[in-house]
Amino acid sequence: MIKKFFKEIEFSCEVFPPKRDEEMYDIFRTLDEIKAVDPDFVSVTYGAGGSNSKKTATIAAYIQNISDIPSLAHMTAVGMTEEKLSEMLAELKKKSVDRILVLRGDRPRSMSEEEFSNRHYKYASSIIPAIKEVGGFRLYGACYPEKHPESKNVEEDLMYLKQKVDMGIDELITQMFFDNEKFYRFMDEAYKVGITVPIHAGIMPITKVNQLGTSVSLSGSSVPTKLSNMIAKYSEDPVGMKKAGIEYAVHQIEDLMKRGVSGIHLYSMNKADVTKEIYEAVK
Ligand code: FAD
Repeated sequence: MIKKFFKEIEFSCEVFPPKRDEEMYDIFRTLDEIKAVDPDFVSVTYGAGGSNSKKTATIAAYIQNISDIPSLAHMTAVGMTEEKLSEMLAELKKKSVDRILVLRGDRPRSMSEEEFSNRHYKYASSIIPAIKEVGGFRLYGACYPEKHPESKNVEEDLMYLKQKVDMGIDELITQMFFDNEKFYRFMDEAYKVGITVPIHAGIMPITKVNQLGTSVSLSGSSVPTKLSNMIAKYSEDPVGMKKAGIEYAVHQIEDLMKRGVSGIHLYSMNKADVTKEIYEAVK
């Protein structure tokens, strides 16, 4: 919890499971370090189409039961069957993980276009009824300040977002954004269509020159000139880049805090040092 400006703002961060089993110890060590900032929750990503889903559950259980921090397990509908869904829900229950980020997911490389368009669960919202039926989970959903890349327009995206919330999403986490004005506009639009659940602002610190290309091509988030100039300036200076990237994220967060955001979700991606530095700067 960040306690500043007389308002308590939730602070959370995201980790991803390693590819190789032997790297699981590294993520546990990272989580031990992250514990120092006492986040309100830590979320664990889910591999495209369900690859690595066991690792997601194992890491979420470590966060919940060993780190003693509430954990949020991501789960995608793409590639999911009714049987797998009920197995996964039982697994999370057994491990005392009671928060799920309900997602659609994107087409994994192993899935053809045809398989993707014939998928059993079409949208994130398609798996909500089955999760609700099991019960006992707090549900989070994804939202997009600059609209989902596949949506025709903002209005359509918000209409489906409202539908998803009405089906049982308790809180939302945004896609990363680098221009706070886009987030404020989205908040106004979401409020106008009746979305009143807490919305956590997704902030990705850009600490490496080549990070933006990969992140942005996946997210569709726009890049302000200030950020692209910064990256160009530090193209040959990794230490300077890291410092400037952290400062950029800190400025974004401070501005969001002043404007009364509900929560900050840091896409710090297994970097405990970056998470700690940002938290120390804004707390
Ligand atoms: P949905 O809410 O299903 O929306 C997808 C698209 O369909 C949107 O354009 C929406 O407007 C439209 N739509 C929704 N409902 C309907 C309907 N009923 N009829 C017609 N159109 C509809 N991916 C992973 O693989 N693993 C992760 O761990 C992961 N974590 C993420 C965390 C966050 C915070 C975010 C923002 C994204 C994450 N993603 C992850 C990426 C996510 O899976 C993709 O962005 C995906 O393309 C959309 O997922 P969604 O849950 O937002 O989909």
